[in-house]
Amino acid sequence: MSKPITTFILILFVFLISAVHAAAQETKLKWFGHAAFSITTPNGKVLIIDPWLTNPLNPEAKDGKDPLTALTRVDYILLTHGHRDHVGDAVAIANKTGASLICNPELAANLVKLADFPAKQADADIMGIGGEIQIADGEVTVAMTPAVHSSSVFNPKAGPNEPERAYGGNPAGFVIIIKNGPTIYHSGDTAYFKDMETIGEQYTIDVALLNIGGHYGMEPKMAARAAQSVHAKIAIPQHFGTNPGMTQDASGFAGDLKKLGIEFYEMKPGQTVSFKGNQLIRK
Ligand SMILES: [Zn+2]
Repeated sequence: MSKPITTFILILFVFLISAVHAAAQETKLKWFGHAAFSITTPNGKVLIIDPWLTNPLNPEAKDGKDPLTALTRVDYILLTHGHRDHVGDAVAIANKTGASLICNPELAANLVKLADFPAKQADADIMGIGGEIQIADGEVTVAMTPAVHSSSVFNPKAGPNEPERAYGGNPAGFVIIIKNGPTIYHSGDTAYFKDMETIGEQYTIDVALLNIGGHYGMEPKMAARAAQSVHAKIAIPQHFGTNPGMTQDASGFAGDLKKLGIEFYEMKPGQTVSFKGNQLIRK
């Protein structure tokens, strides 16, 4: 082979390797509607948060489609609290994928006892507010943060001798720190509280996924204040428009963020966005 051709092939090879490497370095964030998100790390591990995939906003659950069909891999299921719009399809996902549960001990125990969550998967990664755990072979650190809300588990076995709701421990939020990726704050279903400032002091929040639905949690104005308190570089709204009792759209939130000088980014249900390092790739 002549030298120029060899050199050309070599350059092409290096280019392809670096392209593959760059793609592998991306973190993917997908919104399923309501509070449900999945995160795929640069190493390919998959975390799913508050996985109510059968929510009315999820395009993958429309027209009788089963949103679990497309879900081939999940390594960790993170639950902020026990309400059914957050626990969602966690049991079915755990059974399908073998994913490990990350939530508080009381919620974990009652999901195992009352909802038949596989016990072996509700053990190693159970944690409490204030704690941090390393998962995904050290690629991800999960911190559990306070949330001001309530938490009970709906009991599928409810009946004359079984209460409809069981204890679900304390509600929480999560800070998810991804190596070579963004640090993501998921607020759970919280009210605004001034100690969110501590979260912003302790962690560098690249993206805050904030509940703006009102009624049961933060109204948009206070969610914008939450974005400011945690020093979010980008705020993405969630937990809205799912039913008529909630904030219907994110325009008010966007306006309030603008006044505070915080970047707003709206995802559509079913959409996936990518991060290169901690930077959101805007298309
Ligand atoms: Zn709730």
